[in-house]
Amino acid sequence: MRSDTQPLLEAFFRSLTQASQSLLLLDYDGTLAPFRKERDQAVPYPGVASALQAIMGEGHTRVVIISGREAADIRPLLGIQPSPEVWGLHGLQRVKPDGSSEILQPDERTLEVLLAAGEWLDHQHLRHMAEFKTGSIAFHWRGLGECEAEEVRGRVLAGWLVIAERAGLDLLEFDGGVEVRASQADKGDAVRAILREMEANTPAAYLGDDTTDESAFQALQGRGLSVLVRPRWRQTAAQLWLKPPDELLSFLARWLRACRAGAASGKTAAAVKR
Ligand SMILES: [Mg+2]
Repeated sequence: MRSDTQPLLEAFFRSLTQASQSLLLLDYDGTLAPFRKERDQAVPYPGVASALQAIMGEGHTRVVIISGREAADIRPLLGIQPSPEVWGLHGLQRVKPDGSSEILQPDERTLEVLLAAGEWLDHQHLRHMAEFKTGSIAFHWRGLGECEAEEVRGRVLAGWLVIAERAGLDLLEFDGGVEVRASQADKGDAVRAILREMEANTPAAYLGDDTTDESAFQALQGRGLSVLVRPRWRQTAAQLWLKPPDELLSFLARWLRACRAGAASGKTAAAVKR
């Protein structure tokens, strides 16, 4: 962590100690869990799930995972009982802790374009590298060699761009792939929607690693702490940079201590709104 960001962090944790409720927003892949080529085995760094469980157990923090994946993928990987709230598909889908879910259905034009994008992958013999989701298709080149990844990236971007432009869909590049998706929601929209459900002065933080997290960092500007979690720094709108897993675990441990210090000093345990 850079030393010039320490005062920001100190002030944030002071506000957390004094607050009756707080909001911890987290991306999943690359932030809480290291990347795995086998995406169904991408479990959190050791200690992360137990730290989040302890923070949730204090009862002051609304913990929300905001991921590009289907929300149903996240819950078993995270392994926290009861599960925190998960917003999937970059905010198109929301699964509450009780398991009930809401989804913004893609419109007809979006579905037509996704069908065409899938057929294009068939013609290119690339379907096996794609993840088909509600309202989007993500294509992954993680695990390929550098040259092969660059070749396939160029091919998919060129092929999909023509298709996506027909209906005004977005091509969203992320670390290790690209996604064709409805431009109905991004993580920034999800953050704004969640903030609207909280008291205006609730301390809030968002932790993420990818370019798809930048809209969330921007949505928190002037409203909360934005944290890039990544082994290497890159240009970002985030205010802080943490290297996982050690600095991430320290951050979560401080969050827990702040909750406990606040509880010990007698702040009211307000019910966390969901
Ligand atoms: Mg990520």
